[in-house]
Amino acid sequence: MREYTTQMDAARKGIITPELTKVAEKEHMREDELLPLVAEGKVVIPANKLHTCLNPEGIGSMLQTKINVNLGISRDCKDYDIEMKKVMEAVNLGAHAIMDLSSHGNTEPFRKKLIAECPVMVGTVPIYDSVIHYQRDLATLTAKDFIDVVRLHAENGVDFVTLHCGITRKTIDQIKKHKRKMNIVSRGGSLVFAWMTMTGEENPFYEYYDEILDICAEYDVTVSLGDACRPGCLADATDVCQIEELVRLGELTKRAWEKNVQVMVEGPGHVPMDQIAANMKVQQTICMGAPFYVLGPLVTDIAPGYDHITAAIGGAIAAQAGAAFLCYVTPAEHLALPNVDDVKQGIIASKIAAHAADIAKGVRGARDIDDKMADARRVLDWDKQWECALDPETAKAIRADRSPEHEDTCSMCGKFCAVRSMNKALAGEYIDIL
Ligand code: SF4
Repeated sequence: MREYTTQMDAARKGIITPELTKVAEKEHMREDELLPLVAEGKVVIPANKLHTCLNPEGIGSMLQTKINVNLGISRDCKDYDIEMKKVMEAVNLGAHAIMDLSSHGNTEPFRKKLIAECPVMVGTVPIYDSVIHYQRDLATLTAKDFIDVVRLHAENGVDFVTLHCGITRKTIDQIKKHKRKMNIVSRGGSLVFAWMTMTGEENPFYEYYDEILDICAEYDVTVSLGDACRPGCLADATDVCQIEELVRLGELTKRAWEKNVQVMVEGPGHVPMDQIAANMKVQQTICMGAPFYVLGPLVTDIAPGYDHITAAIGGAIAAQAGAAFLCYVTPAEHLALPNVDDVKQGIIASKIAAHAADIAKGVRGARDIDDKMADARRVLDWDKQWECALDPETAKAIRADRSPEHEDTCSMCGKFCAVRSMNKALAGEYIDIL
């Protein structure tokens, strides 16, 4: 019998949970260093008590930056087996979380399979599922219907849920008044907005927030406060709509903490590079250090087909400035549901961003692998280089495709290999170039 509800409740009671022990080990921290951070809400350990195969992770700006992979079927791409293959590929490539954004058919069996088999954190967006769960049009759903879906996801064992609690009826006027270029681009945010305009009622996730928090406390579901007004283009970045919602997310963070519910806060969006660090600082102040989960940010609007790169640039800057969790972006962003290769490209790009930021932030142990890679490169030990590589498969394939005349070098410089020449020169050996 657990003597606590959530990881935060346990930390506040001074109880070291098995999940906290594992996270401390992974982060090269002592348990007594991590415990107060979980108690204060600066680190979350999303771990639904029913997700029994979970290998837990901590999310916080002082820990290794984590990455999330969005998957799930849609009406146009509805093969559950392909989606499960992507999940396992994502886990093997180092994803720390999978968000199931399925928006077609009966979603519960896939969600249950995920919870039963997936060792990484699983997140969902209950409002996406509401329409398909009830098979009724959005306008006919009631506030109770939405809350029942949150409960269903909690009972299924989901570790974190994105809830668009921050937009209210006031947002409707603001969106109309401020005339954003891209209005609302958050899928969940647009559904809440549409429901409010069609029913004339207040946002149910805001109005019944306390009831939702009670469900989250019961199962230890971490709330990820969705940013419905995240900018969908550079022109909308850091505008009144975005900041006004952020202020409300700060208030909602405090209310969740009062009930020992763990909270992350979601962030932008499309943001010019010069505004990213400021966005992170403002969020940290307004949301009192709650972990920030950024969707990108994409640093330019003009690279469809390459948005894994625009997002990795923004993600690296964001994570260095305090974001704790990066949502991956694939080359298919803005274009189509990602296929297996898109998923791989997106994960690798996000992992590069996260790792680069961890090195810059001085996260414990982050640079060790880079130092090992440098050692392997210095002695031209290719096998050791593959062991250090983020994507050894691609690296090996490129080398094999253009193999060098001399095994120890590569076909870039051949006998002009600087590394080989230096090794020989320092060892007093003769260097034959021609
Ligand atoms: S050949 Fe050039 S690129 Fe290749 S390992 Fe040597 S120095 Fe590096």
